[in-house]
Amino acid sequence: MFKYIAVIGAGTMGAGIAQVVAQMKCDVYLYDVNDTLLRRAVERIKADLKRAVQKGLMTPEEVLAVLDHIRPKTHLPDMSPAEFVIEAVTEDLRVKRDMLRRMEEVVKQGVVLATNTSSIPVTAIAAGLKQPSKVVGMHFFNPAPIMKLVEVVRGDRTSDDTLKTTVDFASFLGKTSVTVKDTPGFIVNRVARPYYGEALRIVGENLATVDQVDRIAREVAGFAMGPFELMDLIGIDVNLSVTQSMYDQFGGEPRYRPHPIQKRMVDAGKLGRKTNEGFYRYDEFSKKRIDEPGRS
Ligand code: NAD
Repeated sequence: MFKYIAVIGAGTMGAGIAQVVAQMKCDVYLYDVNDTLLRRAVERIKADLKRAVQKGLMTPEEVLAVLDHIRPKTHLPDMSPAEFVIEAVTEDLRVKRDMLRRMEEVVKQGVVLATNTSSIPVTAIAAGLKQPSKVVGMHFFNPAPIMKLVEVVRGDRTSDDTLKTTVDFASFLGKTSVTVKDTPGFIVNRVARPYYGEALRIVGENLATVDQVDRIAREVAGFAMGPFELMDLIGIDVNLSVTQSMYDQFGGEPRYRPHPIQKRMVDAGKLGRKTNEGFYRYDEFSKKRIDEPGRS
């Protein structure tokens, strides 16, 4: 469908999305602010693909072919051949809008500018761009190579053509898309918010430990992951930004209020798997859990 794709931001989501795109044999221009971050992203992709080889899902030759499609970049003008852009930078309106404004100057006119925002209105991100009709939400889930769903978010100025191209592209990537309205948190993050919020309150009120809440959610309620395991996977900082963004957009609605535990953990740099410590501790390389809960 497209040959050249730009992915902006090489963090948890950018790396995962780049992998998804490269596996479909498209060339991915993966951009971040420095080489160290890009190197780390490629290492994460390599580790994920290695696990696929160990499970017999891919051959080493196929892994090399996927990696060959990933082109790390730190110079934005190098992204100019991109035929479709996916932005996955920090969950901050100004950072995202600025990024897409700059990208709009780099790519050809008419290229779709998709944002992977979890909660920020697509309409607000598009404001001030020359072609707001080209801006759309394309919300992947974590881990992007595994999770099937993509929320396609139609902003107030998103054109029919942009929406259709994005839905078609999601389908080309093997994803199932659902088109959603441009409301805070869209559908999934809105539904998920109390899962984290109430779990944090339960622990904050000393009613149960982190591990107890997770085990009950998994072993009794049948969730794939407990709320604290999930927050560690998402990133405590990302989860806090999304909570804060939704709290602000809903005019300070108490049920979305961020919890002090989240803020304290971000201040302490305990961001979850990406820093090897969050609610649990993780091995630096395998990212497997290596201890019992750090908080009770
Ligand atoms: P992350 O912190 O892991 O990565 C963000 C990356 O953006 C970093 O590598 C950072 O260097 C880069 N960045 C920041 N400003 C930049 C700029 N001006 N130019 C280039 N790169 C820049 O965050 P993440 O978890 O990958 O989240 C990225 C986006 O995806 C956010 O909008 C988040 O809400 C959304 N999202 C996250 C998840 C999740 O589970 N983590 C799931 C779905 C959507």
